[in-house]
Amino acid sequence: MKILLTTLNAKYIHSNLALKYLYTSVIENKETISIREFTINNSDDYIFTELCREEYEVVCFSCYIWNTQRILYLAENLKKAKPEVKILFGGPEVSFDSVNIMTENKFVDFIISGEGELAFKQFLNNYFSDEPNYENINGLTYRLGDEICISSPPKLLEFDKVPFPYEYLEPESDKVVYYESTRGCPYRCSYCLSSIDKTVRALPVDRVYRELKFFIDRNVKQVKFIDRTFNWNKERCLEILRFLIVNDNKITNFHFELCGDLIDEKLIELLKSARDGLFQFEIGVQSTNNKTLEACNRKCNFTKLKNNIEQILNMGNIHLHLDLIAGLPYEDYNSFKESFNSVYALSAPQIQLGFLKLLKGAAIRGQTDLYKYEYRRKEPYEIISNQFLSALEVTHLKMIENVLDLYYNRGGFEFSIKFAMKILNENPFDFYERFSNYYYKMGFQHKSHKKEDLYRIFLQYIRWRENLHELFSSKMQEILKEDMRRTLNEDAIKKFERKGWDIL
Ligand code: SF4
Repeated sequence: MKILLTTLNAKYIHSNLALKYLYTSVIENKETISIREFTINNSDDYIFTELCREEYEVVCFSCYIWNTQRILYLAENLKKAKPEVKILFGGPEVSFDSVNIMTENKFVDFIISGEGELAFKQFLNNYFSDEPNYENINGLTYRLGDEICISSPPKLLEFDKVPFPYEYLEPESDKVVYYESTRGCPYRCSYCLSSIDKTVRALPVDRVYRELKFFIDRNVKQVKFIDRTFNWNKERCLEILRFLIVNDNKITNFHFELCGDLIDEKLIELLKSARDGLFQFEIGVQSTNNKTLEACNRKCNFTKLKNNIEQILNMGNIHLHLDLIAGLPYEDYNSFKESFNSVYALSAPQIQLGFLKLLKGAAIRGQTDLYKYEYRRKEPYEIISNQFLSALEVTHLKMIENVLDLYYNRGGFEFSIKFAMKILNENPFDFYERFSNYYYKMGFQHKSHKKEDLYRIFLQYIRWRENLHELFSSKMQEILKEDMRRTLNEDAIKKFERKGWDIL
């Protein structure tokens, strides 16, 4: 008897925490359970062969927006090849729609909705008993003959009773290590699934210290907290960060999602003593339009947030990543431009321009008619348009996102972008909008470019802008070279010089 816990991660460096939780929760069955993580870059053929060649009895798939279509296809083929194999799905993508999924996909035998640790344990106990009875398992959807049955609704677990997911599984050295010290979020943002848990459940700090020490002692490269708003409880946040500063191994980096306007003087004071690179913060600004934030049930004092972010950036030892979401209610193209410019002005090293996803189970999906949302029917359910943004405007924002990612987030153009915006007399949004129009008009989006070519494209764009005199483009060339010297290695620069500035 063999049970497989599996998934397709979005990238090789990612790992799936849910599978580790499930494995640890049924550790008494460890001889019969294994974990196998694939990525979306593995071919269907490769994954299918791997799933088929072993004698699995139950294959459990962890489903998210980035992998569910692939998993459905793989699971269907697996069932055709081995009808005796039972297929179990879990994860946010199947939790809110289990009956429909099982109705449409006859090869799915079971779905666990919500938190899986207890349900999976109860499921295994029943599955391997002589008289399985699934009725009392919280959150299980199963088949009884031709009928699809739902047992009792999913229940929030006592989180402190859930075992440490790495107790029996060593963290992989070449991957990001995910860790969770709280479940749930106190806020109610309408586009977010974390708003569904009405309470925050936190592990006792002593346990968190022990578990963090486990990672510190192993010198893992990065621990990414998946806590939804790490500083919801200011004192707890301070205590844990202080612990990490005191126990710094000079190697591990810790990533947190913070609420920007909850940051206070005490936290800023503490952060001053952190090693450069010890902490990385992701702060969701999403929009600076108050009406938009109100419509999403999101409260944010942008002035306070701005002030906090500026202080943190001035310290220079914390890596900051700011998020914006395009497609929220009342955020039209001009309003988004304002949000973008306000966030850009903060000069964070990374700005993630995301697009609204109307996720299954999120409140905003129920407001489709209210705001005239059109969105992709399949994962990731991303916005196509709404009453505030046309499909063409969303497309333009996508183009901007691509160029922002290449030129801003990946670095190497700091001086050049500042200089170009100055001589062109453009605000950040207008600069990226015009540059991205040119980038797409010239067809540069059709292939991926080496960094060197991105410098060539930049100069070509500046030369193309008719209002520029020769003087500006030669100055621009000098500044691009300066950025290049700070970014590329000597060999790459020599090679660049041999080839020259023309993009072939
Ligand atoms: S977006 Fe962030 S703050 Fe809002 S509910 Fe989700 S996790 Fe909480």
